[in-house]
Amino acid sequence: MLKNPSLKDSNNIRGFYIDYRTHILMFKSHRKSQSELIVVPKSLQHKALDSCHISHTGLDKIYQIVHNRYYWKGVYMDTETFVLSCEHCIKNKSLMPNHAPPQSNRIPTRPGHYISVDVKGPLPNLGYILTVLDFLNMLSYIL
Ligand SMILES: [Zn+2]
Repeated sequence: MLKNPSLKDSNNIRGFYIDYRTHILMFKSHRKSQSELIVVPKSLQHKALDSCHISHTGLDKIYQIVHNRYYWKGVYMDTETFVLSCEHCIKNKSLMPNHAPPQSNRIPTRPGHYISVDVKGPLPNLGYILTVLDFLNMLSYIL
């Protein structure tokens, strides 16, 4: 028996369905990480990418975020193009050191034991934000 009534056969075409609560077109993925993805129309894909790229982290991290939330055909190529053409990232890349700083082998044993703090910006309409990454659960917090 299906938990979500919107997944009835009459409303489910090859994994696509209309969510009965939000009336949004969804895609039921067979991936383990996220099973229900929002289908983003072409006109909103740039906004979706922009919202996922707010921290201006690299392609792999942004793609993971996009991949776990949204669905459209060619999402990886669009994400790659978006990240590689981001003016903020291009401008700041030249300021980044060519080599990453030495990494330690510290293993966190409790929340907040080993964190990474970074200031990102300036961001459109936000100015600067403080990001905190907790290495225990790899959760990012934006302040
Ligand atoms: Zn960027």
